[in-house]
Amino acid sequence: MTSIYEYSREELASHLEGQPRYRVDQLWRGLWVDGLEVDDITTIPASLRTTLRERFPSPLALAHEVQSDHGATRKWVFRLENASTIETVLMRYDSRVTVCVSSQAGCAMGCTFCATGQAGFSGQLSVGQVLEQVMHAVRAAAPLRLSNVVFMGMGEPLANYAVTVDVIRRLHDYRGLSARHLTVSTVGVAPAIERLAREGLPLTLAVSLHAANNETRNELVPLNRRYPLERLHEACRTWLEVTGRRISFEWALIEGVNDTDQAITELARYAHSLGAHVNLIPLNPTPGYLVRGSSAQRVGEFRDALLGRGVNATVRNTRGRSIAAACGQLATVTNAKRRSIPLRRA
Ligand code: SAH
Ligand code: SF4
Repeated sequence: MTSIYEYSREELASHLEGQPRYRVDQLWRGLWVDGLEVDDITTIPASLRTTLRERFPSPLALAHEVQSDHGATRKWVFRLENASTIETVLMRYDSRVTVCVSSQAGCAMGCTFCATGQAGFSGQLSVGQVLEQVMHAVRAAAPLRLSNVVFMGMGEPLANYAVTVDVIRRLHDYRGLSARHLTVSTVGVAPAIERLAREGLPLTLAVSLHAANNETRNELVPLNRRYPLERLHEACRTWLEVTGRRISFEWALIEGVNDTDQAITELARYAHSLGAHVNLIPLNPTPGYLVRGSSAQRVGEFRDALLGRGVNATVRNTRGRSIAAACGQLATVTNAKRRSIPLRRA
């Protein structure tokens, strides 16, 4: 099943043979500017809408929806044709509306504290499957305009590289989203960061650091054994030099693991050397990782200590925890192979 959002304007035109020339503009406008489903694009005749709907059925079926924060946070579970599921989260703030999309069904990276990593990998998503998540969010956000797209749902976007790049390009070209509104979060696939830097795409890069010494990071983020901190640093430096854009480091604060005074010193040095911003995430609970998140007090102290060392640091809120929609909690992959993850205790 190919999503209608996979087609360029020219490709869509070739599916509209026998129709007046302006038809493709109406369809394009309805899809990308107004964010409508084909059935709701009333500028085109009903019979054509039916044909298009049948020819391009959505590759995502909505299986479940949950809400919290009085509807300001909404999580959708979508079922794919192969029966695995992915999750998408919409967050409405005072000044922006953000969708957090999945780039893969599950994730093969196995980060110990992440529910997606605990559940394992069940498949790549296509360009259409990622764009359908965004456009579903566009419709749900209306009449507000969806302002931000973050690749922070299930999966490692740089392990589905071509799709991630294509989706960003289209969101920029077709929806007018720019670097401030598009964020890719990566666990640190160093060569892919370097390649991405050279694509000339409008995007903000977030790197999930979580530890600034190799021993701790090896345990939290197994990919660190392949691309240790020194190699990641090189890639971040390339990103800075090529794009001129500041990186942000994500750091989920885990009690006794990466919230110590030593961790502050290590992180401050690493972040400072790259002029990076640090985004602290209080650890969200997941079933397979029993170590606790840092207390609210420690989170505050940690941030203040970074600020005191001249590192720009903010704390991310824990939106969506009550509906398992917060960072690292997305996991209802029904057919992923469950892997046993050794529990680490503080
Ligand atoms: N694979 C990418 C993007 C998806 S994860 C990446 O790892 O960056 C999005 C963010 O949620 C990452 O920073 C990740 O480290 C963080 N995260 C994962 N599990 C978490 C948890 N239990 N609590 C808080 N943040 C978590
Ligand atoms: Fe995958 Fe990111 Fe979770 Fe690690 S934190 S397992 S890379 S989704």
